[in-house]
Amino acid sequence: MTNNKSYKNLIAGKLCDAISGKKLDVTSPSDGLSFASIPQSSKRDIDLAVRSARHAYEKGAWGKMSATERGRVLLKFSFLIEKHKDELASLEAKDTGKIFSQAKSDISGLARYFEFYGGAADKMHGDTIPMKGDFLALTLREPHGVVAGIIPWNYPSKILGRVIGAALAMGNSLVIKPAEDACLSVLRVGELAIIAGVPDGALNIVAGTGIEAGAALSSHKDVDFISFTGSPITGTIIQQTAAKNNRGVTMELGGKSAQVVFADADLEKALPVIVSGIIHNSGQVCSAGSRVLIEQSIYDEFIKKLAARFKELVAGPHDADFDLGALVSQKQLKIVKAFIEQAKQENIELLATGEIANNAPKGGNYIEPHLFTNVPPKSDLAQKEIFGPVLCALPFKNEEDAIKLANNTEFGLVSSVWSNDGARQIRVAKKIRAGQIFINAYGAGDGNELPFGGFKKSGFGREKGLEGLYEMSAIKTIIFNHS
Ligand code: NAP
Ligand code: MG
Repeated sequence: MTNNKSYKNLIAGKLCDAISGKKLDVTSPSDGLSFASIPQSSKRDIDLAVRSARHAYEKGAWGKMSATERGRVLLKFSFLIEKHKDELASLEAKDTGKIFSQAKSDISGLARYFEFYGGAADKMHGDTIPMKGDFLALTLREPHGVVAGIIPWNYPSKILGRVIGAALAMGNSLVIKPAEDACLSVLRVGELAIIAGVPDGALNIVAGTGIEAGAALSSHKDVDFISFTGSPITGTIIQQTAAKNNRGVTMELGGKSAQVVFADADLEKALPVIVSGIIHNSGQVCSAGSRVLIEQSIYDEFIKKLAARFKELVAGPHDADFDLGALVSQKQLKIVKAFIEQAKQENIELLATGEIANNAPKGGNYIEPHLFTNVPPKSDLAQKEIFGPVLCALPFKNEEDAIKLANNTEFGLVSSVWSNDGARQIRVAKKIRAGQIFINAYGAGDGNELPFGGFKKSGFGREKGLEGLYEMSAIKTIIFNHS
């Protein structure tokens, strides 16, 4: 532990330990070995960070910057992230267990968020509103003020990018609480923020546990708005806390997304995309395509092909070129294994599994991909978010049945429709309640430009794209009497 790098918080433009000096040990999911430490911050650290964000917003250099200048800061930040791409990707891969090639694409996503929002910063404006008589009204799009960003461990840098990119572009200042299970890349981005010239206090990053640092941040009376990405359970707690202060929130929660395959689809094209939709990030994705709904007439043929592909999939260490990496923690591994065990107890048919690489270190959190077939629609396997590489296949009879099944969970985040019938693509997309619907694709590209968020238990509010900027702002209406 003594040689491990000690990562620091970013508060008021300075790197610092927790005031208490307490640290949390960081282990790699790939081998279970400790390799770094992070500050175990408390309410006192959060208080300092919120004070620094408030000062930056109201009195510091940040609050005085024009939108164009803010955009330039983000563009510089974007170039710097690209320059450090390999280093950040190695760090995130080691910290989360995700494979290096994916981590690299995640870091590109982070840089792209800063580029997208940097370019948009000075293009946000309000309206003029015609009125009767001697009145004229106009609206200003203003920042909320101090934004709290609470982010999860599955995509630490990408989710950081969409939250701080949009919030900074609009002129808010921020306090970020990353997840204790994976925050090294976020803390390293904090170090780069200083080099990029992000003014002191505009961005503060405070590591620690959810129960201590997270709760202190979400209940802080001087926070104006909360952006939360994580589990529905924590989302509910944060909404209750925010309600006590009457503060606005966006909630990016979980999903149980359906990939709907009709008999007229291009099955060769669909197959690899459907597999990637559940093994990407080892299935620890809010928008994982964790249910595949297949039209009855092609069910046997398609499931056989899926099974063959699943048998070839290999989970292994982040720095080797396997199909997927380790799960983020022992805790997550236990959760996923419990779902698999329960499904076996319920006699749900396990059709195929992949493998764990021979050279995978014994202390790693590895699990091979699992494909279950003819999964009962009401079972936990088909209803609950597993957050692991576990795919449930369910047959459907016709279009109406497909829509009913797709909508038959508490969630509504993403979906896909695989069909070559244009009219059906539109009919089905309109009837599925999900925030994003892909047609003959799934999670195509980074999609920084695409509004993203849920219906039902998947949450509310939209991030990414220009919608993400609107969420990070509030409208002020000014009415003139020009008589
Ligand atoms: P989580 O346990 O809800 O944690 C999310 C964040 O909240 C972490 O930073 C966590 O800190 C913090 N936290 C925990 N308890 C808190 C409390 N009482 N008050 C304030 N903050 C608290 O979720 P997770 O396990 O990290 O992530 C997995 C879940 O997130 C899945 O359900 C997934 O679907 C969802 N997710 C959704 C999206 C989306 O965009 N819709 C994206 C990614 C993940 P610590 O971890 O340090 O305790
Ligand atoms: Mg870790």
